[in-house]
Amino acid sequence: MIDFTEAREWMVVRQIAGRGIRDANVLSAMRRVPREEFVPAQLREYAYDDSALPIASQQAISQPAVVAQMMEAAELGPHDRVLDIGTGSGYAAAIAAAIVAHVHSVERDPVLADSARETLARLGFSNVTVHLGDGTVGLDAYAPYDAIIAGAGGPRVPRAWRMQLSIGGRIVMPVGREQHHQRLIQLVRHGEHDYHERWLGDVSFVPLIGEDGWSDY
Ligand code: SAH
Repeated sequence: MIDFTEAREWMVVRQIAGRGIRDANVLSAMRRVPREEFVPAQLREYAYDDSALPIASQQAISQPAVVAQMMEAAELGPHDRVLDIGTGSGYAAAIAAAIVAHVHSVERDPVLADSARETLARLGFSNVTVHLGDGTVGLDAYAPYDAIIAGAGGPRVPRAWRMQLSIGGRIVMPVGREQHHQRLIQLVRHGEHDYHERWLGDVSFVPLIGEDGWSDY
């Protein structure tokens, strides 16, 4: 039997703190959220490996260190309202939910949306709402958001996300001209029409598919 609590602590020490993540909220969330509950049953023993893992529908749960880097760049605080695009397993939504007031998470695949909803409810995450739909148009009903985080890479920052971001809000997303290679960027909205972009690293995410993303063929 694997001691998941110990494995999780090691993950935080080596992969997260060891790579320079300092945000106390992020470190604490990574210590508390059981990643083994978000990976397929047959891969549980690899839950704390330093890598992404396959989930249903040919998608992937992101590498823990990348999730931590994105959450730190999103500068999350306890009163924030967050939009998470690409729920997938629900892991990134759970990490954000462990820090902020509420997370709205959008997933286009009904199988993944259902299973993430089930996992999050079972673990008691009552401050995450999973919505089925195309996240490239954002989620206007609950805007504005203090942070918008994407677990899939698109060709550009969707227009709706810029509009649905609060002043002072942060978008963290992979952007790239190729479907599987992106630059991870942070976009801060300083004013109505004033956005500042910062490069965080080169990454490889699954494609963001939708109206303002890649097309589905
Ligand atoms: N954050 C997730 C990562 C899942 S992979 C996790 O922690 O597990 C990215 C997910 O984005 C996939 O489930 C994929 O179906 C979803 N996706 C891709 N394009 C999307 C879109 N336009 N709207 C919503 N979800 C999308």
